[in-house]
Amino acid sequence: MLSYDIRELERNAVRVDGELATDDPIWTEGDTLPAAPVRASGRLSSAGSGRFYWSGRIETTAKVACRRCLSAVATPVSEDVHALFVDAGDEVADDPDTYPIPPRARSLDLRPAIRELWMLSAPEFLLCREDCRGLCAHCGADLNAGPCACDPADDERQSPLHAAGHDSP
Ligand SMILES: [Zn+2]
Ligand SMILES: [Zn+2]
Repeated sequence: MLSYDIRELERNAVRVDGELATDDPIWTEGDTLPAAPVRASGRLSSAGSGRFYWSGRIETTAKVACRRCLSAVATPVSEDVHALFVDAGDEVADDPDTYPIPPRARSLDLRPAIRELWMLSAPEFLLCREDCRGLCAHCGADLNAGPCACDPADDERQSPLHAAGHDSP
């Protein structure tokens, strides 16, 4: 459960412990989705009149394309959360840790914040391994699977060294 009764929250802090599913309606078209539900944990407490503070963590798995060979790589994502919820209009526009509470809301829904936190922490590119050999620039073959059929001489013919006449036969 990721929604908390505001009046209850004003009296007692609660433990955050829930999962945002990858098919939750909070996700919108074009979102980069996590490869697993986003687990939210921590503590949600009152932080003065109409303000609430969530201190905790989100954890999930991202599936990202290796930037050299483009194969999909699963990687764990874990991010500390220090989120302040304030009445809509009171939030500091430039503060990425502040989230608006919609007018007349009776419950505090953490899902929009979790969605945003995921977007900010999801890696865009990574390497499947440090020494990934990538794809051949000519034929597109995955060089991790072995050398491709391209003639290495082709590469030399295009090099500026050869154009300068360095290695004529
Ligand atoms: Zn790779
Ligand atoms: Zn090739």
